[in-house]
Amino acid sequence: MERIKGKGDAMCKRAYEDKTLTCRDCGRSFLFTAGEQEYYAGKGFKSQPRRCKECRRGHKYAGAKDKKLYPAVCAACGKEARVPFLPGEDQLVYCGDCYAQIRAERRGRG
Ligand SMILES: [Zn+2]
Ligand SMILES: [Zn+2]
Repeated sequence: MERIKGKGDAMCKRAYEDKTLTCRDCGRSFLFTAGEQEYYAGKGFKSQPRRCKECRRGHKYAGAKDKKLYPAVCAACGKEARVPFLPGEDQLVYCGDCYAQIRAERRGRG
């Protein structure tokens, strides 16, 4: 375990410098600016971003929907279904398509 020496000095100098990082997702290089580094440090993040802004933005939207899903088998068509809950042994689970159909049918019969 090495400790960072001269922490006091760093306070006087500009603590952060723009860095070029490579995006893990798209492979492009992107700038991790001094301001962002400061922001990250302020938030207590120890790691640096692994994705460029575009990818991060894209992933944020996906992430909002991206709940943990459990694999299951659709009771109607037998295809693989992913459900946001852990299905019980005798619980019927439907894939997105079948579920939508069943719901529509139920609504139709009202
Ligand atoms: Zn990217
Ligand atoms: Zn199905």
